[in-house]
Amino acid sequence: MIGNLRRMAWVVIALAALAGCAPTDSSLVVYSSRNEELIKPVFDIYSEMTGVEISYVTDDAGPLVERLRAEGANTPADLLLTVDAGNLWYAAEQDILRSVDSATLQRNIPAYLRDEAGRWFGLSLRARTIVYSKDRVDPGELSTYAALGDEKWRGRLCLRTSRKVYNQSLVAMLIAQDGEARTEQTVRSWVDNLATDVFSNDTALMQAMVAGQCDVGIVNSYYFGRLQEKNPEIALALFWPDQQSSGVHVNVSGAGVTRHAPHAEKAIAFLEWLSTDVPQRIFAERNHEYPANPAVDPDPLVSAWGEFKASETPLSKAGELQSAAVRLMDRAGYR
Ligand code: FE
Repeated sequence: MIGNLRRMAWVVIALAALAGCAPTDSSLVVYSSRNEELIKPVFDIYSEMTGVEISYVTDDAGPLVERLRAEGANTPADLLLTVDAGNLWYAAEQDILRSVDSATLQRNIPAYLRDEAGRWFGLSLRARTIVYSKDRVDPGELSTYAALGDEKWRGRLCLRTSRKVYNQSLVAMLIAQDGEARTEQTVRSWVDNLATDVFSNDTALMQAMVAGQCDVGIVNSYYFGRLQEKNPEIALALFWPDQQSSGVHVNVSGAGVTRHAPHAEKAIAFLEWLSTDVPQRIFAERNHEYPANPAVDPDPLVSAWGEFKASETPLSKAGELQSAAVRLMDRAGYR
């Protein structure tokens, strides 16, 4: 027994010595809720350029955060990569991300798209905006998110489930901008206007719209981009709401360096690189998103949707007000 323990102790020491052997240790580990097809091309470029090998584990945001918590100081992960400021905020709250103070990241990523304490940074941008049927709606009839509750849209509105973090973040941002009472009125009026049950995803919602089930809805811009890429003649279009007021709700995919990153310095250098021109372009383009770095142009399919004013309410609000948003949607009968 004692002999076994002693042998185990030696193995641990040997492994620790190996891990501490800096010159040969050129690898990073990323926990990602973005799928392989989106991240691998960018990782490969970095590896080729720097010799830094990047391995990754993909899973949903929730399990990855749990895993980081459970692993604590023993985690092999250097970075967490996920979507939605609500998820990034939650990860930061769980104390699994560290503060990064980087002039490069502060210069490349606008303040409202990153955590004030530097625990996460937006890397790509998506708009959660209005989609409408070009056959049955004149865009002149549209104006704001709240106006989707107007009488004229009775029985004509499609929404995705309120269980999805995207809608929780949208409603949280509306609370931040309009206050809780007005937002509750808005959400109630949406529920009154629903054409049918809520959808499990944005794509199914738009397919229902194409099939004539409803005329207006709210979706993430890249899901529209995917449909449009497959079918350029699709009879749907995006509309940019709230242009005279707070602006379109945008959200991010983003990343943070883990609290116990074994290679924190390398992880920061990699994150900084991700905020620069080439990776920004590739990362955004593959999913029809906008680069988070405003100096980098989106791809032509995305640019063709036109310019818009985005809400610059700090995205950390999507996290701070998330539980208030969930309770509000529940009260309003939004399932
Ligand atoms: Fe998505």
